[in-house]
Amino acid sequence: MILGGGASGLTAGIYSARAKLNTVILNEGAVGGQMVLTNEIANYPGVETTSGYILAGTMKKQARDFGCKIKSNVRITEYQLDNPVKSVILEDGRKFRARIVILAPGGKPRPLDIPGENDFKGTGISYCATCDGEFFTNRELIVVGGGNSALEEALTLTRYASKITVVHQFDHFQAFEQAVREAEANPKIEFIMESELRSFIGNGVLESVTIEHLPTGSVSEKEINGVFIFAGYLPNTSALQGVVELNDRKEIVVNADMKTNIPGVFAAGDCVAKKYRQVTTAVADGTIAALSASEYLQSLK
Ligand SMILES: Cc1cc2nc3c(=O)[nH]c(=O)nc-3n(C[C@H](O)[C@H](O)[C@H](O)COP(=O)(O)OP(=O)(O)OC[C@H]3O[C@@H](n4cnc5c(N)ncnc54)[C@H](O)[C@@H]3O)c2cc1C
Repeated sequence: MILGGGASGLTAGIYSARAKLNTVILNEGAVGGQMVLTNEIANYPGVETTSGYILAGTMKKQARDFGCKIKSNVRITEYQLDNPVKSVILEDGRKFRARIVILAPGGKPRPLDIPGENDFKGTGISYCATCDGEFFTNRELIVVGGGNSALEEALTLTRYASKITVVHQFDHFQAFEQAVREAEANPKIEFIMESELRSFIGNGVLESVTIEHLPTGSVSEKEINGVFIFAGYLPNTSALQGVVELNDRKEIVVNADMKTNIPGVFAAGDCVAKKYRQVTTAVADGTIAALSASEYLQSLK
């Protein structure tokens, strides 16, 4: 039983079903996870630039073709993972049981948690360039963040927006050199460094933001049509608190074989404690989790 149908869960499904294990993926959202939010994936080896939606669709087909069952948009309300036969109960009362569970619930964008953020989600604030970029055609945008996602998504947004200001808290970027070079060379992109957004202001729709320049503490107001936030991520593990060992960042603790602290429970992808989160690292984790799970099942026999 694989809980999560993103890159890591689908890969675990491919390996598990191909090893002739009776495999089901239960996914709380749309199959593909964060991949379907990504307009362009240019760093997945062997596949020239593709959309995340297409890559996710291909992974899903591969898993299904090997016999993996996939149930999406389910809601899990109860986890019982301690026993040799583990079970989860869905909102509609259905119960699924398996001797092996692979946790692959991924993560979600980290909100800024500043005044106005909840008021303008969907009416000026977005966390997904692919989903919402087109709504801001010929408008001015702010992109918050300085990592790979922020700069790559800022570049994607230049297709629609007339101007983009990247607001970043440090004096340097954490993104790969290539993304930084491309963003700096793009005439539509400007930068405000060492600064953080402090509030969102508007009447029904977002009209402006306040920005603090961190070294001086001075706060200014900037009129803006939209803000895209790429300020890190939160693992989707709140439902797993007390069920499996998490670290202080709420990431699932695993060893090199993707084993958690519970025998027969493995974890993979963005939800585990690690430094780099990419599609490649998610599929690698999913591979290891499924192979370890298969070996564990053999050991039970
Ligand atoms: C905007 C953006 C751009 C990115 N661009 C790139 C890029 O260009 N290249 C790259 O390599 N990586 C990129 N990434 C990162 C990459 O998408 C992720 O690292 C990878 O997809 C994570 O896969 P995952 O399977 O671990 O998790 P996810 O993709 O998060 O999938 C987890 C799935 O599990 C579901 N779920 C959640 N909780 C539960 C639960 N309790 N039970 C069952 N299901 C659950 C979720 O709904 C979701 O469908 C980007 C990410 C973002 C947000």
